[in-house]
Amino acid sequence: MSLFKADYSGASVLPSPNHGARADGCAPDIILLHYTGMATELGALAWLCNPESQVSCHYFVHEDGRVVQMVPEERRAWHAGKSVWAGETDINSRSIGIEIANGGHPAGLPDFPDIQIQAVIELCLDCGRRLGIAPERVLAHSDVAPVRKVDPGEKFPWAKLHAAGVGHLVEPLPVQGGRFFQRGDVGQPVEALQSMLSLYGYGIEVTGEYDDRTEGVVAAFQRHFRTERVDGIADMSTIGTLHRLLSSLPKFS
Ligand SMILES: [Zn+2]
Repeated sequence: MSLFKADYSGASVLPSPNHGARADGCAPDIILLHYTGMATELGALAWLCNPESQVSCHYFVHEDGRVVQMVPEERRAWHAGKSVWAGETDINSRSIGIEIANGGHPAGLPDFPDIQIQAVIELCLDCGRRLGIAPERVLAHSDVAPVRKVDPGEKFPWAKLHAAGVGHLVEPLPVQGGRFFQRGDVGQPVEALQSMLSLYGYGIEVTGEYDDRTEGVVAAFQRHFRTERVDGIADMSTIGTLHRLLSSLPKFS
């Protein structure tokens, strides 16, 4: 495949053959963040360029902060897989995919170096500005594919991104005692919880039953917004943080 000109001036180009056309009328309005979850950066890059892998991303951020563009932004990269957000299921057609080199859960959740996070911030600011992407549409892979995906993980420094103007976040309520809901519970409070998660964008049906899916979506929410404890149990801190997050959305405040 021939070279293309990087859309982000801070990136060098390493083309991946794994991409296609975005669905009709779809422009990217989500930035989706991933970790590579592989032992080495070179292994991850090779995989993202291998036609057999059928996966790719728009941008790859090395641990030392170098940014590589692998797919032109106008094209549909293949990073989200089976996903849903705010009722949309073709997340690849709606997003810019950023792979952040990090060993992830298999490697015991190593820290993301500051220089790497700074590069992610600058890239997201640039994409957000050029493409007009709302802060609350900067998402984790785990947000759009709960249960199935856990990246970029609960140690990803969302607060640093938010402090620099990237993403949507509120101060989480501290974990403490009190009433909570968990798998097997049924009734109106579970319905209310599911409604709030759905309203924020998570792919969850309002059934009133705290089933496996609900547990997985609550864990995904915690992994991004209440990282102190990721257990899929809707305690008061989780529910309060979710409420605070919803209230701070521009459309509700
Ligand atoms: Zn991912």
